[in-house]
Amino acid sequence: MKKIQMVDLSGQFQTIKDQVNSSIANVLETTAFINGPEVHAFQKELEDYLGVKHVIPCANGTDALQIAMMGLGLQPGDEVITADFTFAATVEVIALLNLTPVLVDVEPDSFNIDLVALEKAITPKTKAIVPVHLFGQCANMDAILEIAEKHNLYVIEDNAQAIGASYTLKDGSRKKSGTFGNVAATSFFPSKNLGCYGDGGALYTNDDELAHTLRGIVNHGMYERYHHDVVGVNSRLDSIQAVVLRAKLPHLDKYNQQRAEAARKYSEAFKGQEHILVPRIVHTCGEAGANCDCHVFHQYTLRITNGKRDALVKHFAELQIPCGVYYPIPLHKQKAYLDERYKEEDFPVTNQLVKEVISLPMHTELDDEQITYITSTLIKFVNS
Ligand SMILES: *Cc1c(COP(=O)(O)O)cnc(C)c1O
Repeated sequence: MKKIQMVDLSGQFQTIKDQVNSSIANVLETTAFINGPEVHAFQKELEDYLGVKHVIPCANGTDALQIAMMGLGLQPGDEVITADFTFAATVEVIALLNLTPVLVDVEPDSFNIDLVALEKAITPKTKAIVPVHLFGQCANMDAILEIAEKHNLYVIEDNAQAIGASYTLKDGSRKKSGTFGNVAATSFFPSKNLGCYGDGGALYTNDDELAHTLRGIVNHGMYERYHHDVVGVNSRLDSIQAVVLRAKLPHLDKYNQQRAEAARKYSEAFKGQEHILVPRIVHTCGEAGANCDCHVFHQYTLRITNGKRDALVKHFAELQIPCGVYYPIPLHKQKAYLDERYKEEDFPVTNQLVKEVISLPMHTELDDEQITYITSTLIKFVNS
C-alpha cells in the first residue's frame, strides 16, 4: 500500500508538472513577478469559472477577509457575527480591525452557522455576518441572505474551504459558493481545494463599486499611481502562484469530484455504525453520486460519539494513519477571543463537536486500498 498522506500535494503535482515547470520558467524569463499578465489571466479565468463579475487576487485568505471588511467600511465597534467553530483567521481579522467579533454556535449536522443563534445575536450595532462554508459545504445561504436583508447587514462569505462548491437557492438558481453575499474571501493555501505553491488568496464580488474599492486597498490604497486615497495594505498575488493556479483551475471540478468520491466511499464503509456520524450533505442538488458539487470535502469530518475520539487519534498516530482534529478548541474559549458576554450554554453544539470530530485523509490521490485500510481500522477500534 502507498503511504497514506493527509494531503497528497506531490502526487497531484506529478500530473501537472510539465505545465507548471514551463510556466514558472517563463515567469522567470519575463520577470513580471508581481501583478503581471499571468495574474490578470488567472483573475479572468476564475471570474468565468465562478460566474462572478470581479475577482480581486491578493496575498492570502486571511488578508482577503480583512480587506473585505475594510472595503465595506466597517468601523471600530461595529459587531460582526461569525461561527464559533471555524479556523481562527475568520475571527482574527474582525478583532484586528477593532471591530467586535460575535461568535455563535453551529448546526450539528452541517457544522455551519446556526440560524437561530445568528438571529438572536443581532443587535443595533451588528453590521455584517461572516458565514464560513466549513469543510466544503455552503452554509444555509437562503436563510442567511434573508436575515441579512431583514436587518440590513452585509454578508461576507468565508469561502476558503469551499471553492467550487455549488448551492441552489429557493428560487431555483444554482450558483457557486462565494457568489451569494456582498463579497467573498478565499484562500489558495497549498492544502486548500485549489491551492498554489505558497500563499495566495482572492476576493470576489458582483458589486462594481466595491470591486474598485478593493482593488485600491490591496495596493496601498492607490487608484492612481502614488495617489493614496484610502489607507490600504500590501496584499498581492505573485505571478509564480498565478501560473500554478492557472494550471490547476481547469482541473478543479475533477479534483472536487475525486474528493467527493473518496468521501462517498468512506461514508459507505461507515454505514450502520452506531458510534460514527458521517458528514451530512445538507443542501443537495438532487443528483446523487460523484458529479454532485454540493459538498467539495475540503475535509471529511466524522463525529465519534462514544467518547473514543482522543484514543482513536492516538491509535492512528501509532499506525501512521494521518488524521486531524479540526477544531479542538471553540473560538469563544481561545484566550485571544474571550468575552464576558459569552455563556457556555450558548455553545452546546461547538462544545460537543470539539470533543467528537476527527478528519480523515482527504485529497485527490486516495485509492481504494488506503480507504479500506483507514475505514476498517477505524471501525474496529471504535467498537473495541
Ligand atoms: C485557510 C482558511 C483561512 C485563511 O486562509 P490563509 O490563506 O491561510 O490566510 C480563512 N478561513 C478559513 C475557514 C480557512 O480554512
